[in-house]
Amino acid sequence: MAKTDPVIIVIEDDPSIRRFLHTSLSTQGFKVFEVDTGKKGIVEVGVRKPDLLILDLGLPDMDGVDIIKTIRSWSTVPIIILSARSDEQQKIHAFDAGADDYLTKPFGFGELLARIRVALRHSMRPYEQSQTDIFITGNLKFDAVNRVVCVDNQEVHLTPIQYRLLMVLVKNAGKVLTHQQILKEVWGPSFKENAHYLRIYMSQLRQKLEADPAQPKLLLTESGIGYRLKVW
Ligand code: CA
Repeated sequence: MAKTDPVIIVIEDDPSIRRFLHTSLSTQGFKVFEVDTGKKGIVEVGVRKPDLLILDLGLPDMDGVDIIKTIRSWSTVPIIILSARSDEQQKIHAFDAGADDYLTKPFGFGELLARIRVALRHSMRPYEQSQTDIFITGNLKFDAVNRVVCVDNQEVHLTPIQYRLLMVLVKNAGKVLTHQQILKEVWGPSFKENAHYLRIYMSQLRQKLEADPAQPKLLLTESGIGYRLKVW
């Protein structure tokens, strides 16, 4: 049986970036479709059922966040955002709306490919559907069945909240989570404004899981946005 190339839809109004993505992703074995407006993009996603969507937030006809919300109402396709650095607030809204990852322009192609691989792996093997699996990334082992966490095969004791925080990150491994998303998942909807809780517990978790908590390799900070559990 012939292997089917993963389908990627690019929604981007800048023709040079579109052309660059089309050419470079095609040589990497992806089937690429490109459009220059949000409205066309939504139709393409519905028709082609892509494996991944690359979305520019600054489009002429629609707000990028509204595009994500629309698509998320009927699709779980991984969405990687392209954005200009000045759009930080918009970027946060995009994550809250259901985006999976983002790249700031100008971006390196190697970085984009790595993010695509993580997003595809994540969508093809959703952690929730394999609860009996043990999740491993780097030197971290997370055993959800026995509720055991190990670093370098040494068991690490976590408090219930530290465990829940790590579990939320593991469930979304490789994906950026906003402060609000994490607060809501770990502490509940009424704690969405209590960002200092998250800072304190993230620092505790780093003390327990990272070789050098000041230079985290696993629990990464996405500046101004939230956190990401790195996937190897
Ligand atoms: Ca644009």
